[in-house]
Amino acid sequence: MTELPRSARLFSTSPLQAGLQVGEATTDRITWVKLSLVFLPLAAPISDAKVLTGRQKPLTEIAFLFAEIETAQGHGGIGYSYSKRAGGPGQFAHAREIADELIGEDPSDIARLWDKLVWAGASVGRSGLSTQAIAAFDIALWDLKAKRANLPLAKLLGAHRDSVRCYNTSGGYLSMPIEEVKERVSMALNSGIGAIKLKVGQPDPMVDLKRIEAVRDHIGDTPLAIDANQQWDRTTALRFGRIAEQFDLTWIEEPLDAYDYEGHAMLAAELATPIATGEMLTSVDEHYELIRHNSVDFIQPDAPRVGGITPFLKIMALADHKKLRLAPHYCMEIHLHLTAAYGREPWVEHFEWSEAMFNETLEVRDGRMVVPNRPGLGFSLSEQARRWARGTHETGKRA
Ligand SMILES: [Mg+2]
Repeated sequence: MTELPRSARLFSTSPLQAGLQVGEATTDRITWVKLSLVFLPLAAPISDAKVLTGRQKPLTEIAFLFAEIETAQGHGGIGYSYSKRAGGPGQFAHAREIADELIGEDPSDIARLWDKLVWAGASVGRSGLSTQAIAAFDIALWDLKAKRANLPLAKLLGAHRDSVRCYNTSGGYLSMPIEEVKERVSMALNSGIGAIKLKVGQPDPMVDLKRIEAVRDHIGDTPLAIDANQQWDRTTALRFGRIAEQFDLTWIEEPLDAYDYEGHAMLAAELATPIATGEMLTSVDEHYELIRHNSVDFIQPDAPRVGGITPFLKIMALADHKKLRLAPHYCMEIHLHLTAAYGREPWVEHFEWSEAMFNETLEVRDGRMVVPNRPGLGFSLSEQARRWARGTHETGKRA
């Protein structure tokens, strides 16, 4: 029999060692957390390719999970997660169950708190709905940290720029006739937006090609991207991509199923047009697979979907190491700050939908979205958003 080792020091032990309790580098503590489940109504139902293939119904509203966090010394932060179609109430329920874990904690220890919240619900997984619920807390903690430093989040992270190129998507849905698309594209460009994304993925690809041609003719040299929302197979995507090379597209987004890493890599190698995907992925590990397989030219993580800013920063570091370009999905209030801190000129996606939920709006000019000079993310929840809440939950006490 092998002799037993004489000392426990031979073993690596849990990260939760006594060392964490030795010092008290900061003294402020979280005292209050409020969650709100807010349903943002859309002006008209919208459809992308997932609706045309019968997989989803038109989108009529978006569920937002807001987390507001306050500390004993009077600092506060707000963050959000979201769900399109089903899932919002599930995120709210999970967040409500784990919110108590934050009370009494040091709000500066964001990495440790992310781990703590994950382990509290580890039985339901470390990606997807459970970590999306955590994203609302994580983003609120980053907002709080930047507000306390009296800096915009981009500056706290270490910015490369004070504004980011932005493109508009909300005018290019498949549910809109092409004349309406052209009208909305003009409105977006006249308002200072720098590029346009058009949805594709109709049952007849020729209809898509004609719409791309119409928009390309309408906007001249303005950057134009297309988004197939995962509804093509490899053959269709390759054939379509070859024909579409003539339109000088900035990227082709989600040509294939979000988890077809090899298929995207094939397209990225075969086509001169850049390939973009990543919005549906829900963890650092899933994004690592995209990066490892050389699947993308533009990587498109979504901070709420991957579990917050803490995991998003890990994806940014991996992407930067591979010299990828970054164009995060949706959530411009958050992604503006994160893209401003990325080393290679990125894009941020502009949607006007969320404007009614906040008291502040983002400035867009000369094709770029401007990092606000307000501390933190620079947003507060509007009274309208609070009226749209269908559920709230509070824990702890306000200082
Ligand atoms: Mg997309």
